[in-house]
Amino acid sequence: MSTERTFAIIKPDAYKSGYTGRILARIEQEGFTIRAMRLTYLSKREAEGFYAVHRERPFFGGLTDFMSSGPCVVLALEAPDAIKKWRALMGATDPAKAEAGTLRKEFGASIGENATHGSDAPETAAFELGYFFRGMEL
Ligand code: ATP
Ligand code: MG
Repeated sequence: MSTERTFAIIKPDAYKSGYTGRILARIEQEGFTIRAMRLTYLSKREAEGFYAVHRERPFFGGLTDFMSSGPCVVLALEAPDAIKKWRALMGATDPAKAEAGTLRKEFGASIGENATHGSDAPETAAFELGYFFRGMEL
């Protein structure tokens, strides 16, 4: 398990509900190092670019409307095995199916508004980190 970086978002629903502080506390408690962090507000076009892999899916319009509906917090997280470790902490995509103690169970409202995002593989982590952060910030 070598040290790895992943990309995370505290999505607009969680930010709006005032869960940012609690999610950041969990990130630190679970042993991630925050390498970069920024409050941002995606345009529809930026959300579409970020989720381009999902453009053929029926939920693409709703997903990109939601992701551009308000501010969110974007993060570069570092830890041993960070990609898997962060997805485990987030829990299942659908909060109703997420395990107790996961962020989506605790803070997610629905499959669409599910509090957090995490890269799913090294290639997507590299793309997503590069989409939001310049090399100098990392
Ligand atoms: P994310 O990529 O946000 O970390 P994920 O990898 O668990 O989530 P994906 O399959 O990549 O899930 O879907 C991306 C996002 O699209 C989900 O987090 C969710 O917000 C939304 N989504 C996925 N499936 C559905 C669905 N059936 N209906 C509505 N929204 C969905
Ligand atoms: Mg995904």
